Amino acid sequence: MVDQVRIAFGTGIVLGLWRGQLAVAPTTAHLLTYYEGRCNANCKFCPQAKGSRADLRMLSRVVWPRCEFERVIAALRRNGGKFHRLCVQAVNHPNVIDDICEIVTRVKEACRLPISVSCQPLKRPDIEKLASSGAERISIALDAATPEIFDRIKGSAAGGPYRWHEHLRALDDAKRVFGDRVSTHLIVGLGETEQEMIEAIQFLHDRGITIGLFAFKPIPNTPLAGRAQPDVLSYRRIQLAQYLIKQDLTDVKHMRFNNGLVVDFGVNPATLQEVVDSRVPFMTSGCPNCNRPFYNESPLGPMYNYPRRPTPSEMATIRVQLGL
Ligand code: SF4
Repeated sequence: MVDQVRIAFGTGIVLGLWRGQLAVAPTTAHLLTYYEGRCNANCKFCPQAKGSRADLRMLSRVVWPRCEFERVIAALRRNGGKFHRLCVQAVNHPNVIDDICEIVTRVKEACRLPISVSCQPLKRPDIEKLASSGAERISIALDAATPEIFDRIKGSAAGGPYRWHEHLRALDDAKRVFGDRVSTHLIVGLGETEQEMIEAIQFLHDRGITIGLFAFKPIPNTPLAGRAQPDVLSYRRIQLAQYLIKQDLTDVKHMRFNNGLVVDFGVNPATLQEVVDSRVPFMTSGCPNCNRPFYNESPLGPMYNYPRRPTPSEMATIRVQLGL
């Protein structure tokens, strides 16, 4: 029985659970399962990880206060219409499937938002259970671009339970159950090259998986607290490559790299210009209507994912960053 959940701070403001200022309102409501204790996994960037000493109210740079589930349900009845989607994120803990299914079922009774679930790799019967409970989409976060980085950051070398091939197996099973409503998350800045990240994007796109791209954010008291955020110029090129691949305007085979840096996107200049002018490649990516404002950057910048279309002056900065 779910008594408590965690709510992303900005989501709580829009729901009217507490007061605060928002530079940009979230378009997706974010809930996190509440568990007394740490996650069973040990992803080195995560404040929830079993080996971390970080504040358990944190996920990335965002605070997620604990709240009674009944209060959240009542708030969703009143204010759920202010969002376009709801995302249930889960830490890896015993009974996690039952907890997620209960949350999804209750949320569906309270409002009509499509529901994404972001969770650990599950066995196929549990994926089917999630679908039957009413989840619209599932996301299983790969986070790392290569098997080696995955192992170092989330797998056996990190003292964690996850294995690259198991994540891919779960994503394939999720595809069989959820069709084209399957996502993963990738984090730029865990030690990969641009080429490796773009190859991972192509590999996942070819498997029909939607990608939410994030920038690594160091969190105090995690093993990666001292690691720098990725270079914004590099992140911009990866965002652009991701969008071009997603739209089938290019393929990593047609791109050129020099020392791991992309030097040619494999599209003609007019197409590139048109895509950049649309401003969409630089916005938060992932499930439809998920803008996750300032999830991996301060509103003061530097900006990685724009939670809305960049303004003309922000576009001028982006063009300089891309060398256009
Ligand atoms: S892209 Fe957004 S809605 Fe989808 S799983 Fe990730 S955080 Fe949730």
